Amino acid sequence: MASTVATTIAAKIRIEDILTRMERYRPDLDEDLLRHAYVFAANRHQGQARRSGEPYFTHPLAVAWILAEMELDEETVAAGLLHDLVEDTPTTAEEIEIAFGPEVARLVVALTKMADFESSYSSREATEAENFRRLLLASMDDVRVILIKLADRLHNMRTLNYLHRDRQIAIARETLEIYAPIANRLGIGTIKTEMEDLCFRYLHPKEAERLEQEIEERREAADRWFAEIRVILEDLLAQNSIEGSVHGRVKHLYSIFEKLRRQGVDVANVFDFLAFRIIVSSVADCYATLGLIHQQWAPVPGRLKDHVAIPKPNAYQSLHTTVIGPEGHPFEIQIRTREMHTIAEFGIAAHWSYKEKGSHAPAEDSRVAWLRSVLEHSEGSSPREFLDLSRWISIRTTCTASRLAAMSFPFPAPPLFSILPTAFTLRSATPASAVVSTVAGYL
Ligand code: MN
Repeated sequence: MASTVATTIAAKIRIEDILTRMERYRPDLDEDLLRHAYVFAANRHQGQARRSGEPYFTHPLAVAWILAEMELDEETVAAGLLHDLVEDTPTTAEEIEIAFGPEVARLVVALTKMADFESSYSSREATEAENFRRLLLASMDDVRVILIKLADRLHNMRTLNYLHRDRQIAIARETLEIYAPIANRLGIGTIKTEMEDLCFRYLHPKEAERLEQEIEERREAADRWFAEIRVILEDLLAQNSIEGSVHGRVKHLYSIFEKLRRQGVDVANVFDFLAFRIIVSSVADCYATLGLIHQQWAPVPGRLKDHVAIPKPNAYQSLHTTVIGPEGHPFEIQIRTREMHTIAEFGIAAHWSYKEKGSHAPAEDSRVAWLRSVLEHSEGSSPREFLDLSRWISIRTTCTASRLAAMSFPFPAPPLFSILPTAFTLRSATPASAVVSTVAGYL
């Protein structure tokens, strides 16, 4: 889902595209509801324009398309089409309820409440904290509200180039601090990744451009080297009768930037921006493939991560390893099943699409439980404390999930360095570096 491609597609989205896409995963699609929402919203937004000069309605249409790509239900996609009506037109919540029923109306009202207050707060921190709090509150009733909000924010990020530079920075910063982490926490890799790359381009335009250029310069050599490895991997699978597909990919820009910054190395030294992903059909095949790879190339010590046996708190599963490839270049390989792949890309949204229509039980999902726990611990905290809190709770969940130790922090959250020694003492047998990297990985 490259952003440039997505932008071009979004600009030309028609309701027919959305219906066709949805019919692929919902054979008994309620087309009438969606056509009705389309006509209704198009009429009400008539005459309004986006900053880009395009008709305003291109925006809700693009949001609905993103939701359809995530394979969400009719009510969610319809609410995507209608999401800005109560906020930006004279349309009332009652009208929406009469036309589309209480479920769609509830989603639209929840989104409107979130948008309502934005201008009433003066400091950025207060605004962000309040935005976040409202998102969490809405999730208590229905996690689909967050999914629509994420799609809304993603499309606003894709079209951010039409805004003034100050606004671009403010919106990109908020997206990187709040929305991308929420997408990550809900396991929606596609949205998290695209948001991070878009934010990176607005917040660090020079670095982003330089990095892209450097990757482009090495592209040809890397591609040749990669083609060679792909053949070896495909042969390995075939010779051992493992059914699977091998995908080479360029890691996303922001993750390369973070990694280079963390390790203090230059992109010139590594083919690290390229990685392989192997998708196989069973868990047993994941481990078998890993074994074959480690016999082919020496693994880099400490880089093997078994997220299959121990899923990340956002339910992500995969085996990760880094091996020393031909010519001594290390490269990363991820191995997962098709189902794990869907969950890695769509997270809680994938979970939704598997559910029977009408059976909404967000509270049972551990990914939503995290959001709930942030809210429960936030009573009376200041905006800054509240934002910090979300990070602390994320660490606590990580540690619990990794079976390191159930750490509970006094609230409001303590500063980072006062907590690290606690982590060490809790489990002195655990190598210190493992604890640090687990904690740091979720900050
Ligand atoms: Mn919107």
